[in-house]
Amino acid sequence: MAKTNEQTKYLIIGNSAGGIGAAEAIREVDRTGAIILISAEPYPAYSRPLISEYLVGERNLENMLFRPPDFYTRNNIQTVLGKTVSRLDTDTHTIELTDGGRLTWEKLLLATGGLPIVPGIKGMPKPGVFTFTTLDDAKAIDNYLNQVTRAVVIGGGLIGVSVTEALVRRGIKVTIVEMKDRVLNTILDEEASALEAEALQQSGVNVITNHTVTEIHSEAIAGETVSNVTLDDGSQVPCEMVVIAIGVRPRTELAVQAGLEINRGIIVDRHLTSSHPDVYACGDVAEAYDFIYDVNRLTPIWPNAYLGGRTAGFNMAGVGAEYPGGTAMNSLKYFGLDIVSAGIVSPVGDNCEMLSKKYDTVYRKVVVKDDQVIGMVFVSDIEKSGIVFSLMKEKIRVSGFKQALIADDFGLVSLPEKIWRSRLIPAVSSTAAVPAK
Ligand SMILES: Cc1cc2nc3c(=O)[nH]c(=O)nc-3n(C[C@H](O)[C@H](O)[C@H](O)COP(=O)(O)OP(=O)(O)OC[C@H]3O[C@@H](n4cnc5c(N)ncnc54)[C@H](O)[C@@H]3O)c2cc1C
Repeated sequence: MAKTNEQTKYLIIGNSAGGIGAAEAIREVDRTGAIILISAEPYPAYSRPLISEYLVGERNLENMLFRPPDFYTRNNIQTVLGKTVSRLDTDTHTIELTDGGRLTWEKLLLATGGLPIVPGIKGMPKPGVFTFTTLDDAKAIDNYLNQVTRAVVIGGGLIGVSVTEALVRRGIKVTIVEMKDRVLNTILDEEASALEAEALQQSGVNVITNHTVTEIHSEAIAGETVSNVTLDDGSQVPCEMVVIAIGVRPRTELAVQAGLEINRGIIVDRHLTSSHPDVYACGDVAEAYDFIYDVNRLTPIWPNAYLGGRTAGFNMAGVGAEYPGGTAMNSLKYFGLDIVSAGIVSPVGDNCEMLSKKYDTVYRKVVVKDDQVIGMVFVSDIEKSGIVFSLMKEKIRVSGFKQALIADDFGLVSLPEKIWRSRLIPAVSSTAAVPAK
């Protein structure tokens, strides 16, 4: 572990997808420059999407690590784990830790990710109310579960559905309360949401949409424990636990306090440089280029964080690299239902063409605009979705074969030969950065 009050060439804040991507890229081009990596979490880098499998009991920390335990020593990376950076000063090139430690840096990366949004619900805070974005959250829920038979999950997005599946597999009866009219509404269209809702209900999950929780109640048995929640229509849902999963916001505090340019996230250019030339940002905290929307925006998924980290790392080490851009791309398997979605799945306006096919639980939809794929949803039969994603990413004109994209027998051979030979084959293999589930 690094001592504080040191100087370092590279300082990385955040030991997850973005931070590790940067450290690896730096070491590919600079074998000796000092790297210090700081994280508030006390663990070596683990796959955050796997915390639900930890909660189920299928994984422990060891098999959630996405780099071997000797990664840091082998790459000569000093770590400061379990400590939080409280202040960033870009004039003096220093940071301060909450314990008073201080470090001086030449190039800095903010890969600080996101923090769960916790709304001010009446009756909070209280034991029995949790969030679900870190391994420590999963541990805290696990420790509490022996006093729980029913849980309410507030929010039917990716994190809400993820924790619901883990709780159901632990034998808990779960009610999801979702404010919008359907689950997974930010990443799926109506048909795919309905299929996921059906899978949830078939597994015994009570899905309540178009409502919110207005109060969390407790009763004083052996201390103050959660007993039920009240919804905005006055109805009551009994439960011994509440998980708040309404979303994550970029963890921008350090950047704000240092005066960096911020929108919803830290504003960066195609080199992942912030408004200060020696400070970079990537991953969930940064607004980086989205190749579908053709603007910078938040795209908080693992592969984008890793690729952004790599891009930032190369630039920090003086090797010019351009972020190719990412987009929202999710590959899910909750309650046995395989889903892949990417790009714009529910376009607004009438200048898009929607191609779709649905039977049983199989659903394929491809959204085409100006002769290019800008969005897709595949449910159940997802095997060929990687090819469609590559068409999206490569901005390939699809007018000659677009109907084939949703056909049962769609495959590489459905595409004109010059496309799959020259461009698609390398592009397909470069999309595999999502941690193994
Ligand atoms: C339950 C869940 C399921 C998910 N499933 C998927 C999925 O299936 N596929 C997918 O692509 N993505 C998924 N994601 C999203 C994915 O995990 C994130 O996009 C990714 O982890 C972002 O990486 P990051 O490096 O930007 O930040 P993070 O992984 O959020 O890591 C940021 C790190 O910075 C540290 N940090 C922050 N501030 C400070 C500070 N001031 N001082 C010190 N350290 C600090 C934090 O402690 C943390 O360790 C999921 C997320 C969750 C929570």
